[in-house]
Amino acid sequence: MTKPDIRDFTRQELAGTMISLGEKGSRIDRIFNFLHKKGAVSFEEMAGVQTEFKNKLAARYSISPAPAIEKLVSKKDGTVKLLFRFYDGAVAESVVIFNKKTVSACISSQSGCACGCAFCATGALGLKRDLRPHEILAQFTACRKEAGRAPDSVVFMGMGEPFLNWASVKKSVLLLSDNKGLNFPQTRITVSTVGVVPVIRELAGSHLGVRLAVSLITADEAQRAELTPMAKKYSLREIIGAARYYTDRTKKMVFFEYILFDGLNDSPQDAQKLLALVKDIPCKINLIIYNPNQPGKPFTPGRFEKGKVFQDIMVEAGIRTHIRREKGSDIAAACGQLAAKKEAS
Ligand code: SF4
Repeated sequence: MTKPDIRDFTRQELAGTMISLGEKGSRIDRIFNFLHKKGAVSFEEMAGVQTEFKNKLAARYSISPAPAIEKLVSKKDGTVKLLFRFYDGAVAESVVIFNKKTVSACISSQSGCACGCAFCATGALGLKRDLRPHEILAQFTACRKEAGRAPDSVVFMGMGEPFLNWASVKKSVLLLSDNKGLNFPQTRITVSTVGVVPVIRELAGSHLGVRLAVSLITADEAQRAELTPMAKKYSLREIIGAARYYTDRTKKMVFFEYILFDGLNDSPQDAQKLLALVKDIPCKINLIIYNPNQPGKPFTPGRFEKGKVFQDIMVEAGIRTHIRREKGSDIAAACGQLAAKKEAS
């Protein structure tokens, strides 16, 4: 059996473990700092910690490498895609997106995904396994290295449904934001779900400062059922109800994502349907033009001009709405595409 990775412990959990092993409470911040700020990859490199204690740690815990094994850079817009392979062969992807003035890191919460959305390359892979907190953090630090600085925002929109691995995602948020470690603000982290209602409600009642994005995909229930099996579990009405509960409880807005497919859900009538769903909720809409580089998927991206008409209808009704075009189309940057290629090779 593999030893637990010591970087999966929050500072409080680490404190309990260290004290039970006989280490002084005052050294805990130092050890946490070695692990999370300095990125220690072995116990030996923890200067100032007694060898005997380092040996005790090494006997119980591991610091497993989580390397990026492949890197692709878009010639079109500089988007960087990284593929990671973990200790057991499970893979996951991250994407570094360069906007005009900001950098965003899109990271994965699972290797593969059990949700099986019809338009998604990751969904076609199925779920390999949940990622552990240190594997999520490894993606952040690799993205930071690629960007040459800390990203301005982190989004859980890579492989996997973050709310189906919520324990690890939540812990990774606590680790990322710990001021003795990476000190990345929770308010700049967005967690995107395809609509796992109980966890939306749990997040609403938690003290986490992360932002919530809910991927509606479309505003028509029957159409949604064809696009994601999650629709059979939670209806749009339940999802909207949970989102409203979240905004009421947290006083924060929710981000709704809507994917524009040509001829499927991009007409003015479709915009009215979306409007009817979200008009009473403090929200912002992201219209995402479907990324066509997904082999074997029978969908066509919505056209930008039609998207503009859609956007105008939402904006006129007072809903902040942006159109987002996928970046890195020449390097298969939609989630799961590189991993799918790797699996196939
Ligand atoms: S869109 Fe998200 S939830 Fe759906 S299969 Fe892909 S990764 Fe999973």
